[in-house]
Order: sequence, then C-alpha cells, then structure tokens
Amino acid sequence: MRKHIFNAGPCKLSDMALENTAKAVMELGTCGQSILEVSHRSSDFQAIYDETVALFKEVLEIPDNYSVMFMGGGASLQFCMVPYNFLKTKAAYIDSGTWSTKAMAEAELFGEVVEICSSKDRDYVYFPEIPEIPADVDYLHITTNNTIRGTEILKDIDSPVPVIADMSSDICSRPVDVSKYDLIYGGCQKNLGPAGLVFVIIKNEFLDKVVADRKIPTMLKYKTHVKNGSMYNTPPCVNIYTVGQTLKWIKESGGLKEMERRAIAHSDALYAEIERNSMFIPVVDEGSRSRMNIPFIMAPGKEELADAFMAACKKADIVGIKGHRSVGGFRASCYNACTDEDVAALIQVMKDFENSQK
Ligand SMILES: *Cc1c(COP(=O)(O)O)cnc(C)c1O
Repeated sequence: MRKHIFNAGPCKLSDMALENTAKAVMELGTCGQSILEVSHRSSDFQAIYDETVALFKEVLEIPDNYSVMFMGGGASLQFCMVPYNFLKTKAAYIDSGTWSTKAMAEAELFGEVVEICSSKDRDYVYFPEIPEIPADVDYLHITTNNTIRGTEILKDIDSPVPVIADMSSDICSRPVDVSKYDLIYGGCQKNLGPAGLVFVIIKNEFLDKVVADRKIPTMLKYKTHVKNGSMYNTPPCVNIYTVGQTLKWIKESGGLKEMERRAIAHSDALYAEIERNSMFIPVVDEGSRSRMNIPFIMAPGKEELADAFMAACKKADIVGIKGHRSVGGFRASCYNACTDEDVAALIQVMKDFENSQK
C-alpha cells in the first residue's frame, strides 16, 4: 500500500509519472530497449528530450528567447556554477535560509558577495524584506522557497540587475513571470522528478553577453550545455523521462493554475489545523508561509509528546514529517503530487492526537 508521503525531497511523484517510468524501464515504447539502455544519441531518446523541453516551456510559459537545459550535479552544483559563469566583481544575495547561505559561500570563492538582506536574526522564520537593489552588482540571487525553514516569496520581484533564482522547491507549483529572471535553476527532486537532475532556464542574451572573463572547465560552463542540447556528456536519461511524465501529468491536470489552487488548498487546510489544534503551533510568520513546506512544533508545555505524535503518524501510514535535522519539530512537504487524501489523513491524525490527550 502506498503511504501518505510528505518527504521534503526526494518527494512524492504522481502515479502517472511512476507508472509510465516503470513501463519505460521495462521497454521504452516499442523500441525493444529499456530507457536505462537506450542511447542518448538515438532518435528514440532525442524525441523524449525534445518533448520534455517543449512541455516545460509550455507549462511554465517560458518565453522564446530562453534556453532550457537539464544536467547532473544537483542544485548544489549550481551554487558554484552561477558565480563561476556570471560573477565578475560583485553579486547581491538574499539570505533567507540554509540553501541561500550555501549559495553565498560558493559565490565568495569568485568575487564579492553583498548580502542585501537576511532573516537570520530570527532564525529565518520570515522572508526578509527586500531593500533597494544595488545597480552596480552583476546579478541578484534569490531562493524563492526555503525548503528547510518553510518560507516563500510568492511574487516575482522587479530588479535593475539580472535576477537569478533557485526555485528547487517551488518550481511549477504556481505560475511565474519567467521574463523577470535571467536564470532559474533547481533540483528536480521536489516538484518534477527524481534526484540528481537539475533544470536550468536561461535568457539567451544573458548567456551571450554577461559571462565572466575567466577560464571555466568545460562541464561547468553553461554555454557547453546550451550548445550541445544538454548532451555534451551522457545526461541522466531516466530522470529526464520522469520529469517529462510529470510535466505531462501537470498539463493534463490543468496546468500551473491548478497546481497553485491545490497548493493553496493544502497549505491553508494544514495551517488552519495547526492554528486550531491545542497540541501544535506554527513556526513561520504569517505572510511568509510556504505553500510547499509547512513546519510546526509542539505547543509550549506539550514538547514531551513529540515522540507520541510521530508514532501516531507512523501508525496512520504518514511518512516524512520529521523536521529537518537542523531545525527539529515537524515539517509537512506538500508538493504537486500531494493529494487531498494525504492532507486529510495528516489533519485527522492531528485531531485524533489532540482528542487522545484529553
Ligand atoms: C534541496 C534544495 C537544494 C539542494 O538540492 P540538491 O539537488 O540536493 O543539491 C538547493 N536549494 C533548494 C531551495 C533546495 O530545496
């Protein structure tokens, strides 16, 4: 039996993406080979790759003057590839939590990092107010959803300099205005597919004009991957296949407006229960709350019941709600494939747990 999966990443995927991937692992179409065996240079795979890119462009409404790439290395490799390719003298960074802090540490290897705002003072429980963005930086880096802390900026910002966004954990959960960004990247394992694959969306003019003047190893150059259609080396073929199936599922389900409607319904329902239930309290300030990752802790005086609540979740086939090891408490991650039934099951356990303590 499938459990109610609230894992933060890798995360739950749609039945359609799983079933079609399982079939393709046995045989891709009628080509007599598995997706694990087929050559990435074959027309069979090229068709899959092209369809995946086309679906991504359609679903996310990516303008024509942008290129899409898929590559390995995880979002963490992008923390270094971004400054390696684009940081000439200094770059502005928004410090909104663990992942942005890691991105800043990598950028410091290549130039000056200007931290324009931070929510570190209160342990990242809110999304920092963005001040005036300096005009003399090469780019501004933003993490739109802070997976570990559960904060999210739900708007596209206006900026006098190119904006580079880590959208690992909220990509395709709502419509975004891609034209406001020069580069968007993310690990696929939180809303699109399996771990180990990264998507990069880049404005062509940005890539052509703005690259830093330094020697960059071939594999770490964005130009290499754009020029070779993500096939300079062997790409993670099965991961790309699954992302394609997820995008097809998103499209058939009603696109990003529907993903957003579900995300709002799920996060609103969970937050309403966290606020109502005397056993729990929320962590994140109202107005900064992520729709994807919802952290909560035991109410004051109830701390010693945390293990009992975890046990109750386990009994109800709910997995993945333990908070990140650096933060503690609980975190329910409700990515695109999360269903109404999953959320209802978690809310029921919370209600039952409260009643059991009366
Ligand atoms: C998970 C995550 C990462 C790291 O992704 P990897 O693929 O594990 O390197 C980076 N940024 C954000 C916002 C994330 O949620």
